[in-house]
This record gives sequence, C-alpha cells and structure tokens, in this order.
Amino acid sequence: MGNAGLISLSVETNKLGIETPGLLSYHWNRIKGSVTIHISTIKIPTILRNTLQYIERRLHMHRQQTKPITIGTKVIGGGHPILIQSMTNTQTEDVAATVAQIKRLAAAGCDIIRCTVPTPEAAAAVKAIKQQIAIPLVADIHFDYRLAIAAMEMGADKIRINPGNIGGKEQLAAVVAVARERGIPIRVGVNSGSLESGLLAKYGGVTAEGLVESALDKVHAIEDAGYDQMVISIKSSDVLMCTAAYERLAAATSYPLHVGITEAGTIISGNIKSAIGLGLILNQGIGDTIRVSLTGDPVEEIKSAKIILRTLGLRRGGIEVVSCPTCGRTKIDLIGLANQVEDMVADIPLDLKVAVMGCVVNGPGEAKEADIGIAGGCGEGLLIKKGVIVRKLPEGELLAALRDELLNWKE
Ligand code: SF4
Repeated sequence: MGNAGLISLSVETNKLGIETPGLLSYHWNRIKGSVTIHISTIKIPTILRNTLQYIERRLHMHRQQTKPITIGTKVIGGGHPILIQSMTNTQTEDVAATVAQIKRLAAAGCDIIRCTVPTPEAAAAVKAIKQQIAIPLVADIHFDYRLAIAAMEMGADKIRINPGNIGGKEQLAAVVAVARERGIPIRVGVNSGSLESGLLAKYGGVTAEGLVESALDKVHAIEDAGYDQMVISIKSSDVLMCTAAYERLAAATSYPLHVGITEAGTIISGNIKSAIGLGLILNQGIGDTIRVSLTGDPVEEIKSAKIILRTLGLRRGGIEVVSCPTCGRTKIDLIGLANQVEDMVADIPLDLKVAVMGCVVNGPGEAKEADIGIAGGCGEGLLIKKGVIVRKLPEGELLAALRDELLNWKE
C-alpha cells in the first residue's frame, strides 16, 4: 500500500449468511488520510485486494504531496492541514490598528496574515507588529527590493514578491541572499494583470499556460539564485482560467501552492466565485493554503474559508450551523435567530453541527443529522438533541438555552 495513508479495516459479518461479496461502505477521512472500510466476510481475499487497490487509487488522487515549507510557527504543504490566510487592510505603518485587526483575524481562525509593505515606515512597523501577534506575518512587497530585505530584517516570517517587478537579477539575488541567510520562505506571486508582454504575445493574451510559465520562470530564477524555500501563487479573477492554471502548476511542481481567486468581488459575488474556484481546485487535492478575497471586512474572508474547507471535508473543528430556508410554516423570526446562533457559536470550541429550523412539524426530523438544534413554533420552540426533543421553551429563551447546552456540552 506504500505510504498513501493508514488503513483501518472493519469487517462486518453478513448476518443473513447470504453471499453478497463486495464493498458495503467506506468512510474516507481526508484530514487524517485514513479510510475505514466495511466489507462482507465472504471471499475476503479478493474483496480485500480489490477494495484496497481502489482506496489506494483514491488516496493517491487526493492532497497532492508537496514540499513542506515552514513559515514561522506553521508549515505549509507536505500534507499538513490547509492553512487559511488573509490580508490586513489597515495602513501597516499604523501599528496599533494593524495589530488590532490581526488579533481579530487570528481569533476568527486566520492562520497566517499578510501585510502590505509599501514604504520604509511600513517595513519598520513589521518589528513592532510581530512582537504583539501570535500568527506568522507575511510582508507583501512590490517594486522595491530594499523593502523586502528590510521587512525580513524586521522579522517577517515570509515575503511575498513578484520577482518580475522588484528590479533586475542583482536585486533578486540580494533578496534571496537575505532570505537564505535567515531561512525565510518566499511566496512567488503571479497575477493575471501583470503577465509579461512576451508571454502575452506567445499565448495570444492572458492564458492558464502563460500564467504557469510565468510562475515557473520566477521559481527557476530563485532556484538559480540558490534558494528553494518557496510557495507559489497564481491569481486571476477568471475562475476557470485560475482553476486550469493551478491544475497545470500542480502537475509541474512540488512546491506548495497558495490558492485564491483574486479580485473576487463583494461579499456575495466574492464568496460564490471563491467557493466555486477553490472548490474545483481543492477537491482535486491541489492547494496547501488559501485566501478568500472579499471586498469587505477581512474577518468575513476567514469565515468563508473555514466553511469552504469544512464543506470539502478538509478541515474539522468549529460549530457548523445549518438552518432551513424558511417557508409558510415558519412562525418565528428564523432569519434573525439563525444569524444570532451563527454569531453566538463562533467562539465556542466544539466540533458539532447545530440546526436552526423554522417549525415543529418538519424541524425535528430535518434536524436529525445535527448534534443539537432548535425548532421554532408559535411563540415557543423545541430544543432537540440528535433528533430527540428534550425541551419545550418560550421563543425568547431558545437562544440562551442553546448556548447553555453548548457551553456545558458532554459527548
Ligand atoms: S423546517 Fe419547517 S419552516 Fe423550515 S423549511 Fe422546513 S417546513 Fe418550512
């Protein structure tokens, strides 16, 4: 089986004694890289061999093995959990505002933060910011290689550069020399908006092929300068082009990939485009760290990224809230209640599913798959655990009762 993952085998007896050989079911845990399979006991050797071969193929299809790159206290790639990133939108020179925003982002679940470093003052601020935060900081540099060096000297855990716009070969060599000396990884970022004219001419405009060639050219330039601690990103607001580019890139390199759809848009369009793009890419096992780009409060990016990863089975932890779409049976303010529940559970460290349903007719049944839920009635509601009604409460007490249950949760 190689080292594709752990196989834990659970054999179930066919109670009726009827010969029905084959795979009955399996549970594939992408996070742990393990599979539990249930098979019938008849003809085990054949079934086992076929089943394990099948699972091995599935395991190999997922989470492309990339080189692990250490960013401060975190590791990107190498099969480690996919990390969530965001970017501050404060003036980096304003240390207090930037630290406050990073702390909010970290509390929401941000693993790595990126700050723009457009001035020497911003580079200098990196030191004070770093002293006050607990997550790794990436300095985002354009045009001036000296800012990249200054940010590293001030303690940046990674720098994000486009080697094509920070000067020539000598300037890049100077940046790489400091990165190598300090063991600071470089994220090589390529953007569809800044594709070189030669590649635009070669491919007849911005294409996935051109973006990948541009990224690999830059990676090779850094390798030629003697460094191999890199993460690569390709950004395009064209979701399908971005997807195609990441597919090509993943086939061409083993460096970890930072995935995101750039300029995705405001909350609704940005979330939809990011969910489609990241979903298509991540579901192929491609991607080691992600950013959901939204025009809005960066904390919203973290919430969206967590939902995308959880939906794809790539991250566990945190409370998932499911709620019904409401209908003519809804007799309570379910929309308000669902939003209140979502806010309430945000910082409760449980790995549970909470259902918020609009009526007592279908709610309890529909909430069966949740660990706990509430179902509204006419001025009152039900508290439900694993589909079993445990309490009836006035509507105004539902939220507090749910919170109480969660804070005292025992498996
Ligand atoms: S749970 Fe009840 S209120 Fe909600 S959609 Fe279903 S039937 Fe309608």
